[in-house]
Amino acid sequence: MNKVIVKKSQNPDISIIVSMYNEEESLALFFETIRKTLEKLKQYTYEIVCIDDGSVDGTYSLLEKYAAEDERVKILKFSRNFGKEYGLMAGLKYCKGRAAIPIDVDLQDPPELIVKFVKKWEEGYDMVYGIRNDRRSDTLLKRLTAAMFYKIYNLMTRSPIPYNAGDYRLIDRKIINAILDLEERNIFMKGIFGWTGFKSCGIKYVRQQRKAGQSKWNYWKLWNFALDGITASTTLPLRIWTYLGSVLSFLGVLYAFYIIVRTMTYGVDVPGYASLLVFILLVGGVQMIILGILGEYIGRIFIEVKRRPLYLIEKKVNVNDGE
Ligand code: UDP
Ligand code: MG
Repeated sequence: MNKVIVKKSQNPDISIIVSMYNEEESLALFFETIRKTLEKLKQYTYEIVCIDDGSVDGTYSLLEKYAAEDERVKILKFSRNFGKEYGLMAGLKYCKGRAAIPIDVDLQDPPELIVKFVKKWEEGYDMVYGIRNDRRSDTLLKRLTAAMFYKIYNLMTRSPIPYNAGDYRLIDRKIINAILDLEERNIFMKGIFGWTGFKSCGIKYVRQQRKAGQSKWNYWKLWNFALDGITASTTLPLRIWTYLGSVLSFLGVLYAFYIIVRTMTYGVDVPGYASLLVFILLVGGVQMIILGILGEYIGRIFIEVKRRPLYLIEKKVNVNDGE
């Protein structure tokens, strides 16, 4: 293949952002498909910003080959595995396009959709997100838990996220810059996308099976992801306990009053061990939950105040920092 050289000062129109972790099996097919799609958008120049999220297989050396052949393939190599969300953040920071499109390397999100994204972008939408209208490729449990998450999240926050919209979307430069201005560490991308506002629309698509390699997700990761998502976006879980505590205290005062009157009228009453124990256990349990939730937030405040960088980049290829 001929080496493609793009003039350094020229910023591309579209930046494809793809974070990958141990994906050597998926790379070839990914590049083939994405290039075919981007060729259909002849009037637009592009770059493919690849984040190697600390892969321990041959992902990076393969990427280097692609980058050597084509300057539009850029690589950000993380020093270790930081997680996809951070890969995406790095991609947004270093991409130069007038719009960015994050996509998974496993082709679960069909690249052909990019053409439709761009069409909507031309119509003036600043954010065009893909909606998975068919999650048959996911297990029943994953679909159920996902539906529950969207429901709870949207009940709790003021900037709801559209059901079944993932990271696969087109984001205009305006929104990229708004996101880059945020200074928080605990980032829940989907929530942030919803939070920014701007003119958005969704396009339905069918989420495919993974083409090669293995999914890195498991339920424990998903659970933590959901916790991060909710605590990063709302303080409602903290507030619930204020009300519950008030109701319990009120009932407590009433009960105390009743006990005092009863003791004064009928004298001391020794039995009552069972009710006392139930009460102590119940209130003790509730207090533990409250402490746990407080802890979740305090832990995140701790992470925020440390102000550590979100990720560490070990190496950059074809990336021009000076611009
Ligand atoms: N990924 C990543 N860092 C990680 C885990 C995953 O960059 O720590 C990438 C992965 O290579 C893929 C995308 O994130 O491009 C989605 O991952 P996966 O297919 O495992 O998730 P699923 O599609 O099952 O939700
Ligand atoms: Mg996948």
